[in-house]
Amino acid sequence: MALPYSRLPIPYFLFDGHRKMRKPVIAGNWKMYKTIAETSAFVRDLRPLVAKSDHCEVIVAPPFTSLRAAADAARGSNIAVAGQDVHWDPEGAHTGDISTRMLMDAGATHVIIGHSERRHDHDETDEQVNRKLKAALAASLLPIVCVGETLEEREAGRTAEVLERQFTRGLIGLTGPEFSRIIIAYEPVWAIGTGRTATPEMAAESHAQLRRLAAARFGDVAADQVRILYGGSVKPENIRGLMAQREIDGALVGGASLKAESFAAIVNYR
Ligand code: PEP
Repeated sequence: MALPYSRLPIPYFLFDGHRKMRKPVIAGNWKMYKTIAETSAFVRDLRPLVAKSDHCEVIVAPPFTSLRAAADAARGSNIAVAGQDVHWDPEGAHTGDISTRMLMDAGATHVIIGHSERRHDHDETDEQVNRKLKAALAASLLPIVCVGETLEEREAGRTAEVLERQFTRGLIGLTGPEFSRIIIAYEPVWAIGTGRTATPEMAAESHAQLRRLAAARFGDVAADQVRILYGGSVKPENIRGLMAQREIDGALVGGASLKAESFAAIVNYR
């Protein structure tokens, strides 16, 4: 019997000549867009465009209603499917929420946790992010954990403090092996859906800070291995500059992931 994707040993590393590199991840967050039929058509269109994109992992995160359609359309391809959120309880009286088991049953292998739109629209706290993260890891879902400062926080010079708080509280109690299974997404809130992108240098500075936090908490090897994605108005026009930064291991893409051609152009940035 085939192992579920999330239980397979994942090739986190690529070899580039003599250098071991973190394998990039390009993930599309569709937010509240696309019906079931639109999802199936998108994945059908995307498949041939990324079929040879072995240089990175490709993930799409449709709304819950479209997870099964995405997973069915992606079967046998290199496209993985993620949920956009998850509850920490295995089941219960939580109207409108979704469990790890439901996500996996619908074909998800990954889950986005702590996206700024969840933090702001639903008052999600670092403590809740932490509970969700632990539930996902316990269920063998691979989490993409989002952190990032607001414009007000950046302008007040508080970016580093905010990232440290979100990293520390969000990841409290994680073991080293658990940390090795997470992906971090640095998403400055002021760059999400605004068309304003952090410069590659700005993003790399925050990524380097997150890697230092990871080293202090989980050791140098774990910090060197963790993939840190950038998110915030990533487009085909700016992905190459971002990926040229050694600290940036991929992208979490919102708006530009909604069209197969533009998402594929981001995946195929090289
Ligand atoms: C996102 O939804 O995580 C995101 C980064 O959106 P956008 O690319 O549209 O800024």
